[in-house]
Amino acid sequence: MKRTFKYRANPTQAQERWLFAELRHQKQLQNYMLQMRNQMWDYGRISVSLYDQINHLKHLRAATSHYSEHPQDMQVSTIKRVNAAHEHFQRRCKEGAEKKGYPRYKSSVRSLTWSLRKHKLKTGERVRQTPIRETGRRQNLLKVPKLGEVKIRQHRRFIGDPKEVTLKKTARGWYVFIVCEVPDTLKCVPKSACGVDVGTHDFLTTSEGEKVPNPRFYRQAERKLAKLQRELSRKQYRSRRWYKAKDALAKQSDIVACQRLDFIAKTAYKLFHHNGFDAVVAENLKPSNMVKNRYLAKSISDASWGMFFDWCNWLAKRDGKHFHQVPPQNTSQTCSECCQKSPITLKLSERLFHCKSCGLKLDRDHNAALNILYRAACALRGEVWATILYETRNQLLQLACWS
Ligand SMILES: [Zn+2]
Repeated sequence: MKRTFKYRANPTQAQERWLFAELRHQKQLQNYMLQMRNQMWDYGRISVSLYDQINHLKHLRAATSHYSEHPQDMQVSTIKRVNAAHEHFQRRCKEGAEKKGYPRYKSSVRSLTWSLRKHKLKTGERVRQTPIRETGRRQNLLKVPKLGEVKIRQHRRFIGDPKEVTLKKTARGWYVFIVCEVPDTLKCVPKSACGVDVGTHDFLTTSEGEKVPNPRFYRQAERKLAKLQRELSRKQYRSRRWYKAKDALAKQSDIVACQRLDFIAKTAYKLFHHNGFDAVVAENLKPSNMVKNRYLAKSISDASWGMFFDWCNWLAKRDGKHFHQVPPQNTSQTCSECCQKSPITLKLSERLFHCKSCGLKLDRDHNAALNILYRAACALRGEVWATILYETRNQLLQLACWS
C-alpha cells in the first residue's frame, strides 16, 4: 500500500526562480516527448516505448548541456508521465471508446517529481536515502537534486519506505508530497455496521439517525468568488493587474477546495473511529450523471459525494475497515419497516417518509440509510433484496394499498 505525506515547503526567492525555470524545462520536455509519440502514432500506429524515450534522453544529455544541466530523475519521471498518458490513450483506442482523449500539449506544468534511488553501503546492503534532513528546529530541509536544500515544515513524520517526491506549486504556495511504501493492513472482522445516505439538505444521515449538516462551502464563498471573477474580467488581458486579479481568484478557489477536503476527511474519519463502525455502506451514486440536472448541479458538485466515497474507501483500506457501495435504486421510496415500495416519488422539499402500508413515519434520509444498510446485508448473504421478493408475492396487496 502506498501512503502520501504532504508538507508545506518554503523555498527562498532564488530557489523559487530555479524551480520556475525547472518547471518550464519539464514542460518543454514533456511536449517534445509527446510530439514524438503523436507523430509516430499518426504515421502508422507505431507506439514508442518508455525505454526508447529514456534512451533518447540519454543521447540528448550526452550531446547538449541544455539537457544535462537539469536533474535526470525529474526528466525521467516526466517521460513516465507522457508514457502513462499515451498508454491510456492507446487503451481507449483499442476499446473503441467514443471519446479517445488525445493527449494534449501543455501550456504549463505545475509539479516536479523525482524518484529516490537506492544507494549501496560498504556492507553491501542497499538502502534508500531519506529525502529530508532533520535540523531539530522548526523547519526541516528537503534535498532537491541539483538545487540543494529547501526548507519544509514537517508537522509529522512520514512512515514506511520513501519512494518518490513531488514538489508542487499551488495558488497558495509550494507543497511537498512524499510517497511511501507501507505494509498492507489486515481487514478486521466487522462487528458493527452503518448505512449512510448522502444528500444536499444534510450532508449525510446514518442508519442510527445521526445527521451531519451540509457546510455548503461553495455557496458561502460564491459572492466573494463572483466579485473576484468580475474584477478579473474588467482588467486588461495579461496586464500586471490582470495577473494579480487572477492570483487572487485562484487563492480563493484553493481555500474553498481545502475547506471541503478538510471537512470530508474529518467526517469520514469520524464515522470509522469516533462512532466506531467497522463497516460503512453507502449508495453507488454517479455524481457525474447527476450534475446533468441543471437545477441541482451546483449543490451536488459542492457536496462532492464522489470525494467522500473515495475517502471512505481509502480510510477503510488504510485502517483495515470495510466500505461497500450498493445500487441506489428506490432507496428513498421504499419503507424500511415493511419493504413496501411507494409509487409516489417524494419531492426534495418533503422531509418525512410516510408508509401507507404499515403507517411508519420516519425522516426520509434516515429511512433511506436503513434501506441501504439492509440492502448491503442482503447482498452479503447472497440474497436478492427483500423488496423484489415481497413485491412479486404481494402485487395484489400492493395495488390495494396504494390505490
Ligand atoms: Zn411500511
